[in-house]
Amino acid sequence: MASHIVGYPRMGPKRELKFALESFWDKKSSAEDLQKVAAGLRSSIWKQMADAGIKYIPSNTFSYYDQVLDTTAMLGAVPPRYGWNGGEIGFDTYFSMARGNASVPAMEMTKCHFIVPELGPDVRFSYASHKAVDEYKEAKALGVNTVPVLVGPVSYLLLSKPEKGVEKTFSLLSLLRKILPIYKEVISELKAAGASWIQFDEPTLVLDLDAHQLQAFAAAYADLESTLSGLNVLIETYFADLTSGAYKTLIELKGVTAYGLDLVRGTKTIDLIKTNFPKGKFLFAGVVDGRNIWANDLASSLGTLQALEAIVGKDNLVVSTSCSLLHTAVDLVNETKLDDEIKSWLAFAAQKVVEVNALAKALAGRKDEAFFASNATAQASRKSSPKVTNEAVQKAAAALKGSDHRRATNVSARLDAQQKKLNLPILPTTTIGSFPQTLELRRVRREFKANKISEDDYVKAIKEEIKKVVDLQEELDIDVLVHGEPERNDMVEYFGEQLSGFAFTVNGWVQSYGSRCVKPPIIYGDVSRPKPMTVFWSSTAQSMTSRPMKGMLTGPVTILNWSFVRNDQPRFETCYQIALAIKDEVEDLEKAGINVIQIDEAALREGCLLGSPSILSTSNGQSTPSGSLTVIHTHMCYSNFNDIIHSIIDMDADVITIENSRSDEKLLSVFREGVKYGAGIGPGVYDIHSPRIPSTEEIADRINKMLAVLETNILWVNPDCGLKTRKYAEVKPALNNMVAAAKLLRTQL
Ligand code: GLN
Ligand code: ZN
Repeated sequence: MASHIVGYPRMGPKRELKFALESFWDKKSSAEDLQKVAAGLRSSIWKQMADAGIKYIPSNTFSYYDQVLDTTAMLGAVPPRYGWNGGEIGFDTYFSMARGNASVPAMEMTKCHFIVPELGPDVRFSYASHKAVDEYKEAKALGVNTVPVLVGPVSYLLLSKPEKGVEKTFSLLSLLRKILPIYKEVISELKAAGASWIQFDEPTLVLDLDAHQLQAFAAAYADLESTLSGLNVLIETYFADLTSGAYKTLIELKGVTAYGLDLVRGTKTIDLIKTNFPKGKFLFAGVVDGRNIWANDLASSLGTLQALEAIVGKDNLVVSTSCSLLHTAVDLVNETKLDDEIKSWLAFAAQKVVEVNALAKALAGRKDEAFFASNATAQASRKSSPKVTNEAVQKAAAALKGSDHRRATNVSARLDAQQKKLNLPILPTTTIGSFPQTLELRRVRREFKANKISEDDYVKAIKEEIKKVVDLQEELDIDVLVHGEPERNDMVEYFGEQLSGFAFTVNGWVQSYGSRCVKPPIIYGDVSRPKPMTVFWSSTAQSMTSRPMKGMLTGPVTILNWSFVRNDQPRFETCYQIALAIKDEVEDLEKAGINVIQIDEAALREGCLLGSPSILSTSNGQSTPSGSLTVIHTHMCYSNFNDIIHSIIDMDADVITIENSRSDEKLLSVFREGVKYGAGIGPGVYDIHSPRIPSTEEIADRINKMLAVLETNILWVNPDCGLKTRKYAEVKPALNNMVAAAKLLRTQL
């Protein structure tokens, strides 16, 4: 009985790769230093899997940035602006594409955190990065015969975008016949080096594909068939169920001998396997969740595997992970501060490798009884622990009715009444929440957390900061103020730390992209809010000014999307619980005299390849009060929402501020196409991601463009996003020009 791992985290248990990359980028260390750290990480991962008894160990899942970019390098698809002259692609060209250089900005990054290939009819492909083969050989030299992993040719093209100028006319899939010759070169080299298996990741197979796209898979693998002969070929899909059409395409692919399926997210896939599984082929059954941190329910997985074994045959079933372990944290042994009981419920990448192997052994009749017994104890403790269940919360969430997801009043009526109450000018100005976070501020927070300064000193320091920010906004003559968020380290962590049902890790880092890592909180239990979270700071700030002060909260969908979520109840239930906690906070803010409250949904649109954001409207709507005059703002770091615009309207906020400055046209086209939008809207008038200071004329110009499409009475004027990464030297003049632009236009309307 065999075991397989789809892919493994690259960062290292203590983010070794991050520090090596950043030190190299800062020119503090050499390319050799970076390569040495990378090789060390790879070898320890391979050894760890080999020691655990894994049979099919992946190689080429390491990356200095991301695997799609690696594939762009492999195919030599470097956009001409990077001035690459052929030959093997080195760090210079590679990192220029990823991060830009002094003269050329980086290529686009998707919300799914990979660098998007830009392809057109004239791209000349060449075999320009031998990384896949080099890594295979490297592992082999260490005594580990790995399964080299490539991003599949069709997924590569489907994840690309047409280069500028040919967006409307060019078919990316037409490039298939140009990239397959390169794939053939790579495959031949891998064969020559001794590989007996090869894995193609084709995650796009889980998307809703049309017949033409499905046909591309058939064509691609038919073309590769003769080159692949002699190899066992695994096609790996993940993150969701396959449609029956996609499944049929998959099992009919020429030259393919094994299928990797996500049986955690893909809940209906098992039925497809039951109805039709080709004789003699291998099933790589992804039963261990690669996207979460929960220990597997081994007894239940073993049952699933035994049922599958009866269908596909004893020698053809391989135990695997649902997707790459890249999406989970690295190693639980480094968690020294977690509660022991909670810790017993968890498994990070290193523990998941052991689980996969334990399942394979059990299937083969060599069950490690002690391991299974302790797993069963942990599962039982999680099911019955009072840490998990809070009956009041369960009841409140269960009692929610359809009408609770709606506000009682109509948005236009609300807007008029609110306008009168707050007495705002037309084109009111505001900001998104945070102000620059100075080193001094970070030091104060850190020292308070480490008990190095007293609470009194901390409160005093934060109050001073808020006062500074309030005074500045009054001086700039902004209409709706913010307190600047100096007390917050992170918009999710800040709330998670104050809500019950959340746990925090010390080293539970997950790569976001490049060297960027995030440390998601773990939601393990019913969520409730023991006491107000932001009222003290918001009312302190309100007491410093007669202008309206915006309360600032993070929304339930964003908290959910940026956390590791419970797998013992549906996602929407967890989301509703968070929404109810946020609603408690909204009500307390109202009582404290805060009349404008922003609920940030920065990550409304997260979750790649994961299907429709159907819980959006209901769960966010739920955190808003039902009848009051409080102005509810929401903010989104996402502008390309043509397809979810109706969910956003359904959220029924009074004002949405959205990132926009890098894509005016996209956003405005939604409204031009006749979507009825009656609430307030503040499309960012300048890009806060750049240090550049926009002029008054430039901002006025953009506002005018928006006014051409949107009603005057609903338009707000604000930057794109929070200002915390900027410097005051940039923020002051930029906001000054923003207010000047709004004032200029008011005189003209
Ligand atoms: N209120 C948050 C801030 O200004 C919003 C951040 C975000 O949208 N990412 O920092
Ligand atoms: Zn934002």
